Amino acid sequence: MLDAEFFRRWMTATATSVEREAERLTALDSPIGDADHGSNLQRGFRAVVAALGKEPPATPGAVLMLAGRQLVSTVGGASGPLYGTLLRRTGKALGDGTEVSEERLAEALGAGVDAVRALGGAAPGDKTMIDALVPAVEALGGSFAAAREAAEEGARATTPMRARKGRASYLGERSIGHQDPGATSAALLVAALVDAAEA
Ligand code: ADP
Ligand code: MG
Ligand code: MG
Repeated sequence: MLDAEFFRRWMTATATSVEREAERLTALDSPIGDADHGSNLQRGFRAVVAALGKEPPATPGAVLMLAGRQLVSTVGGASGPLYGTLLRRTGKALGDGTEVSEERLAEALGAGVDAVRALGGAAPGDKTMIDALVPAVEALGGSFAAAREAAEEGARATTPMRARKGRASYLGERSIGHQDPGATSAALLVAALVDAAEA
């Protein structure tokens, strides 16, 4: 079973990965965006860590809802409301129990991804974070490591895609040949589940 402490570790491990990869995320956002994805998420996840440290929530659901609220209020770009919706909706779907099963997490994350799809209108193949998140949710029934592999593979698979949502879509065909920054950061979020489980 996964408790609030596990979810707090998931968020702090994501923050650590974002700090480590911020320059790369911003570099990926340079040819097909406005070169701010790394700094956007850095600002957001620093706020998440600060908020979780101030008053640690007692339940898994509350941890993710607090993290999501921080992302919405501190990240100016498209990724703030999208990741904020992902975490808030996933947290809400976890309910108010003090522990949740891995199966419950997989279902809840599925609901979170559906909410991101509803908000942003992106489908698989549109070259967005959805291309990493959807395969990750599918693989999460297996193990965290399987979900990490699926998300990383999904992020790599965005390279030959033509963007149909977000800033990259303004480039049309010229968006082809670059890995999507949001799919790349989504893979970091999923990979951090493995870190949280190993800690
Ligand atoms: P902005 O484009 O406002 O500068 P970011 O650079 O922080 O925001 O985030 C860009 C990422 O957000 C993209 O790489 C993509 O993965 C994701 N994204 C943008 N629009 C959408 C959307 N409509 N649905 C899902 N993901 C999206
Ligand atoms: Mg950007
Ligand atoms: Mg921007």
